[in-house]
Amino acid sequence: MLYRFFWLIFLFGCINPYEGILYYHPKNCKFKVLTTITILYDFSKEIGKDRICVESLVPVGGDPHKYEPIPSDIIRITKADVIIANGHHLENWLSKLISNKRKEAIYFEVAYNLEPYNKDPHLWMDVIYAMEYVKNIKDLFIRIDSEGKEIYQKNYENYINKLKKLDDFIKCVVEKIPSEDRKLITTHDAYSYFSRRYGFEFVGSIWGISTEDEPSVKEIKNLINLIKEKKAKAVFIETTVNPKIMESIAKETGVRIGDKLYGDSVGKEGSNAETYIKMQIHNIIAIYEGITGNKYKGECDDKLENIKSNSVL
Ligand SMILES: [Zn+2]
Repeated sequence: MLYRFFWLIFLFGCINPYEGILYYHPKNCKFKVLTTITILYDFSKEIGKDRICVESLVPVGGDPHKYEPIPSDIIRITKADVIIANGHHLENWLSKLISNKRKEAIYFEVAYNLEPYNKDPHLWMDVIYAMEYVKNIKDLFIRIDSEGKEIYQKNYENYINKLKKLDDFIKCVVEKIPSEDRKLITTHDAYSYFSRRYGFEFVGSIWGISTEDEPSVKEIKNLINLIKEKKAKAVFIETTVNPKIMESIAKETGVRIGDKLYGDSVGKEGSNAETYIKMQIHNIIAIYEGITGNKYKGECDDKLENIKSNSVL
């Protein structure tokens, strides 16, 4: 067994262990952070900047609900000083992996103090909750590295300002969608917090709160009936799941398929959704265009310009 383990490490040591993984390793970083998902990587990087080394476990575009750890993840866990997870049963695969962490390493569930809703673990999709995530990360970093307190505090305030602007931008775009059409149908239930915050009716999804189980024929029929009954204008597919079922549902109901949405992961290099802020901007424009059938012509760009001026985009 042990032999097999070392063989696997050897095997994976020969290929790039960072294939598809987000990582940032500035020289002389004070401590090493390992996050489960790319969204938490982005938040940590915004707060830690050059003071921390940070990596994500699940690669860009990976599905965190049914992630299967690879041998090199064990090595990364043993090297980390801090492991940051979302919690709320998003990462059910993590408990076995975490048994390999060093005794003194910290395990932190970032949404520990946030009230879940509908058992949905995707609390970060509401920008107000994202601000709480970021605050918890800032407090954690100050606890670990008190010498960097002022830097973390400053990075935090800058980033919170950008998130406030993002929240205003999303609200502005939502206003351009007729209120009776503000309905969301997606591949999995990652948008209940988003819908609650921005006034959408979350009609339904194929997979429910996790993508682990395959949907039944009855569940798909129910969703088709709901789409017809609610007179929804569009359905949306996320970047981390198989699009096939939703494509046939759209065909069956005759509704539009909007541009892909990001929920469980930020986008790949060149996607223009490489950060949390950029993926949220992409999403709301995709939702607006999908539902209305109109091209977004920059109606809310005054809010976006504010974000741009802070060199986020
Ligand atoms: Zn998800």
